Amino acid sequence: MKPLQMKIGPEWRPGRKQFDTVDPYTGEPWASVPEGTKDDVNDAVAAARSAFDRGPWSDMLGKERAALMRRLADLIRENADELALSESRDNGKLLREMRAQMNSIPAWFDYFAGSADKIDGRVIDTGRRDYFGLTLREPVGVVAAILPWNSPLLLLTFKLAAALAAGCTIVAKPSEQAPVSILRLAELFDEAGFPAGVFNTVSGSDRRIGEWLVQHPDVDKVSFTGGETTGIAVARSAAEHLAPVSLELGGKSANIVFPDADVHAAVNGLIAGVFAAAGQTCIAGSRAFIHRSIYETVVDAVADRARSIVMGDPKDPQSEMGPICFSGQVAKIRNLVDEAILDGATVVAGGSDGGLGGLFYAPTVIADVRNDSRICREEVFGPVLAVLPFETEDEVVALSNDSRYGLAAGVWTSDVRRVMRMARSLRVGTVWVNGYRTLNYTMPFGGVKASGYGRENGMEGLSEFLRDKAIWIETSGDVRDPFIIG
Ligand code: NAD
Repeated sequence: MKPLQMKIGPEWRPGRKQFDTVDPYTGEPWASVPEGTKDDVNDAVAAARSAFDRGPWSDMLGKERAALMRRLADLIRENADELALSESRDNGKLLREMRAQMNSIPAWFDYFAGSADKIDGRVIDTGRRDYFGLTLREPVGVVAAILPWNSPLLLLTFKLAAALAAGCTIVAKPSEQAPVSILRLAELFDEAGFPAGVFNTVSGSDRRIGEWLVQHPDVDKVSFTGGETTGIAVARSAAEHLAPVSLELGGKSANIVFPDADVHAAVNGLIAGVFAAAGQTCIAGSRAFIHRSIYETVVDAVADRARSIVMGDPKDPQSEMGPICFSGQVAKIRNLVDEAILDGATVVAGGSDGGLGGLFYAPTVIADVRNDSRICREEVFGPVLAVLPFETEDEVVALSNDSRYGLAAGVWTSDVRRVMRMARSLRVGTVWVNGYRTLNYTMPFGGVKASGYGRENGMEGLSEFLRDKAIWIETSGDVRDPFIIG
């Protein structure tokens, strides 16, 4: 294993120590990753600060930043297979899913490159005869980007493409579970010709790396994706130096099937919602609300499909689900399912390792659960679907919204009026209608309630990395009373 290095300003830096990341399928260490220190964090922030305040990056026109971003997009395209393999080996997700993600990432950079030279302020009616007013939209500064393990590069790209277009500099902190692709991305930044200090990386198995980064007074903005508890800690630390934060946290999303739905499509949507990526996705549709009139039919169909899901080597194109990323996560899934069973739930499918051992957990469908039980309230972050019947639209809106979380929801119906009512009533950041688990760079993404705040993607995502400066220009030349507010 060739030891990987961190990128800090112009320097490639090994860790004082290295740690191994483990392939969840083979159980073998496969990459040697730097163990960063507080000094590494400080140096990375200093490099980002210096690149933001001085030097070629801060002087670049939007179109020049855009040219570099497009070059980076081309390099990601060229290296997509290798990056996908790194992610699959780090987190155990299907190689074909990670490949599809890698192939989609360049479009994010191309899209935001297109906005880099269109960051316009406004000319504003100041409400004063003697003042002309305008705004400048300026980059927020040094961004700390903190990432989880489930889709490292895609989730980083949600932040990075917009931050670069805005003119920010970045220190990225990959997850200790899946750091390789993000460390590798820094090499592509070099190859694309970005000035030193624009993109820096600090890795480590010590979770204090993230803490040190967020606490750093020279960090101007924290963009965090991860769990709720960590998100709260991040928001607290950033508040100590009043850095704005955006938080992309977990979910407990409802996938709702009405009796007028195309049942075949809905079943497929329920499967996609919670068994894709072995449920290790923030938008997992982990609570299925199914109208009582079609409850048996839909549950039987979902359970049949769940039982037929092919688990195996994530690199095998026939596999539909790989292992869970690490043993702590398997234990969490197992505990939540076991507790639900003790609580009276019925396991309709799965509920075990599926006979594969290791870090596998079979696609699991659980019935006879209450919406206020732990399995329906806590994020499992695994392939576990809780199914609940409902009778009326009002009832299902209340059940869906009765959650700490508010990331996403799916609605399956052919009634357009119902679509509009549901879209308004669900307290979430995204509603998919007759679809599930679709994202793109143009559409704002983010949560409400315990799913976080702030938005990524679209022009809303760009705004997270900009702030408005108001310019007042006196036009009369008169001298005014200095003791009255103007
Ligand atoms: P996590 O919260 O455990 O860790 C996320 C990152 O934060 C890691 O890099 C970790 O090292 C770092 N970290 C840990 N303690 C920190 C601290 N005190 N200060 C700063 N950083 C710290 O999350 P995870 O287990 O890696 O990822 C799974 C979670 O991420 C799930 O809850 C999932 O829903 C969420 N997630 C959300 C989205 C979204 O866009 N909403 C996307 C993917 C994953």
